[in-house]
Amino acid sequence: MKISVVTTGDDILKGKTLNTNFNYLAQRVFEKGVEIRFEISVPDREDRISEALDFLRGKTDGAVIIGGLGPTHDDRTREGLAKFIKENPFFDKGLWEKLKKIEPELDIEKHGKYAWNFKRARLLDNPTGIARGYLYEKNNFFIFLLPGPPREFIPMVEKHVLPYLEKRTGKEYRTKVIKTFGLKEIEIMQKIKQREEFLKPFSILPAMQEVRVVLYGKEKELEEKITVLKELLNDFIYTEEDERIEEVVGKILKTRKLTLSTAESCTGGLLGDIITRVPGSSDYYKGGIIAYSEKIKTDILKVNQETIKKFSVYSGEVAKEMAEKVKKIFNTDIGISTTGIAGPSGGTPEKPVGLIYMGFSYKDKNFVLKEIFKGSREEIKLQAVCFILNELRKKFKEEKR
Ligand code: ATP
Ligand code: MG
Repeated sequence: MKISVVTTGDDILKGKTLNTNFNYLAQRVFEKGVEIRFEISVPDREDRISEALDFLRGKTDGAVIIGGLGPTHDDRTREGLAKFIKENPFFDKGLWEKLKKIEPELDIEKHGKYAWNFKRARLLDNPTGIARGYLYEKNNFFIFLLPGPPREFIPMVEKHVLPYLEKRTGKEYRTKVIKTFGLKEIEIMQKIKQREEFLKPFSILPAMQEVRVVLYGKEKELEEKITVLKELLNDFIYTEEDERIEEVVGKILKTRKLTLSTAESCTGGLLGDIITRVPGSSDYYKGGIIAYSEKIKTDILKVNQETIKKFSVYSGEVAKEMAEKVKKIFNTDIGISTTGIAGPSGGTPEKPVGLIYMGFSYKDKNFVLKEIFKGSREEIKLQAVCFILNELRKKFKEEKR
């Protein structure tokens, strides 16, 4: 099945709003094995919306239109559909009364459009908002109309669009997303080369901090492909579930009853931020010190001044001490630290931009990893954090209590 997306809104075309709805929809649809053929962004005008639909009809099985279902004059999506299907919308009294019960403040002059309906369309309820969505189907071409605010759009994708696509494509055809860390796209290709034919069709999707391998197939065939891929990539796989690296690490620490603290220099608190994105992370994360300046490293963390003088602040020795000291201060099982050069300036030939030392202290053992990450300042920081989380995963999933 091939579908398309029409994003409406002057704010999108002026660059004021980032089209995160498309991004979300594309990922979810992709996981269902459905292809997106076109994504078209149009202004808030019904003729542009219906032109986009004219273009898409015959080229794809259906379209999802995002936004423009509010009650104001610049919300033109209902009008766009009306133009395309050549049917005038009618005022649905029953719907209006229903909406008034949910939201008594509604005023027919201002909000009447919320109750527009089409003879040939189905209304879709909105669990988090007033605007209903619509589903129109004719001659093997379907159109979803969904509201634009992400807190309404996302639940409606989950509730209406995905089950509909699943029903149309048949449940037996599935996809599986397997997340890896530590290998580049090309390295994955090399590792799976011998079984490439068997695994086909698959996709490899690199992101900044990880590479996802997506497998397709029917139930049993898919299971076999997963087994083969796991044998080929083994420990580079960090999860087969819909979860992020910080969640995987969180589960490990929780089950092993280990606690963690952080002393961050160049990552400036990003490690603590990402660890605490997991609900319940207080079970294992006790806190951290953003020891950005040298003075905080020595005065608060109690890193030896001599160590800094001798090895420089960007060194494995300092990273090691930072991790050890923070572990002591917070009285945790594990202490983690970062120090290095996030750039874009400050690099030298011996210590280039992107060089990060990551210290780990666990029980009486301390060790340091050194990596040179590439990219912008933000990217370097994020890569360092993900690298640390993956190291924690590898180290603590193996070790027996
Ligand atoms: P409203 O009742 O708020 O007018 P609507 O269904 O008419 O809802 P829009 O007017 O298109 O939706 O967009 C409302 C707001 O939702 C936008 O200002 C924007 O903040 C957000 N939004 C809309 N489309 C998108 C999108 N594609 N990605 C992310 N945010 C979006
Ligand atoms: Mg609107």
